[in-house]
Amino acid sequence: MTFKDLNLIDPILRALETEGYTTPTPIQQQAIPILLQRKDLLGCAQTGTGKTAAFAIPILQLLHNDGVPTIGTRQIRALILTPTRELAIQINESFSAYGRHTNLRHGVIFGGVNQTKQVENIRRGLDILIATPGRLLDLMNQKLVSLQYLNTFVLDEADRMLDMGFVHDVKRIISKLPERRQTLFFSATMPPEIQKLANTILYNPAKVEVTPVSSTTETVEQLVYFVEKRDKRELLIQLLKQAKIKSVLVFTRTKHGADKINRDIVKAGIRSNAIHGNKSQNARQSALSGFKEGKIRVLVATDIAARGIDVDSLSHVINYDLPNIPETYVHRIGRTGRAGASGIALSFCDSEEKAYLRDINRLIAKNIPTITYAPNMQLKY
Ligand code: AMP
Repeated sequence: MTFKDLNLIDPILRALETEGYTTPTPIQQQAIPILLQRKDLLGCAQTGTGKTAAFAIPILQLLHNDGVPTIGTRQIRALILTPTRELAIQINESFSAYGRHTNLRHGVIFGGVNQTKQVENIRRGLDILIATPGRLLDLMNQKLVSLQYLNTFVLDEADRMLDMGFVHDVKRIISKLPERRQTLFFSATMPPEIQKLANTILYNPAKVEVTPVSSTTETVEQLVYFVEKRDKRELLIQLLKQAKIKSVLVFTRTKHGADKINRDIVKAGIRSNAIHGNKSQNARQSALSGFKEGKIRVLVATDIAARGIDVDSLSHVINYDLPNIPETYVHRIGRTGRAGASGIALSFCDSEEKAYLRDINRLIAKNIPTITYAPNMQLKY
């Protein structure tokens, strides 16, 4: 199947060609035809499945076909709510990429920065708004955003909205949207509370489910190093000194740990940066851009900070610490091996972390191969 088979319009087909996409991913194949018919959708899919394009492409196509007003300001017709700033920025970039040959206007708002520029952008008129819940609610309360002309609403990563305590804000926003609209609801998992929310806001939805969490691990080659805590740093540096590791995300449990490990890596003469919640939005963005452009090879991140990181050519993920929640392991390694590419995930496990490894093996229903590290040993990866 090609994108042409999905009846996409020429401006979008050309943009996808520029992006280098040849085949739609499973969620795109399933969701795009449904969405082009303006039906509601319940999508059970996580990041890395091509879900952003699955909703962005039909939204762009429908709005483009509906046309833009030639007089007066544009009104927001599509809203995408997403839990983190990083995700919001990335979704906005996706709309730029796929919509580059349309004359639709889109913009992004998120908290933690001054609102002035965001408000100016909205005043000039947008067709599509991408937002995090807190900032949107804030601007709605100040009467700086009006959603009365909205016809499409996307709730992205609903389960994370719940985890991050945003569900109240989300519900408040939804209560202010026009009732006649197309609603798209995405969540990687469907705990009862999320299912209930979906039931209340979707009308007769089509259901699309792709890659349950545990099977995303199949495209990623995995290895665990049994290593004493005191030897982790040495093992990491030894691994990073190899040219095979082109771009790597190193996960740590704590912000403090991320900074410390980053300093160790830099000291060893390797270009690296750290990204976590204590850093300013600007510092995080510049670390991320440097990484995407290949100026730095190593990005050290905590789980929360890494949530939105979307880098196509990530060759390796290294778990410096094993996460105590096994699903987190699956989310972490899902950062590599995306969209069909192969990836390698290496994890360090010290004696205190062996119970975590057991939980992970149980979740992914296989035993990850292990090697016991000894200082200066020859490394396979
Ligand atoms: P997402 O799940 O939206 O975060 O997308 C995961 C990654 O896959 C992003 O880096 C996209 O640029 C990429 N991607 C999305 N759709 C396709 C496609 N049809 N072919 C190749 N790459 C894609």
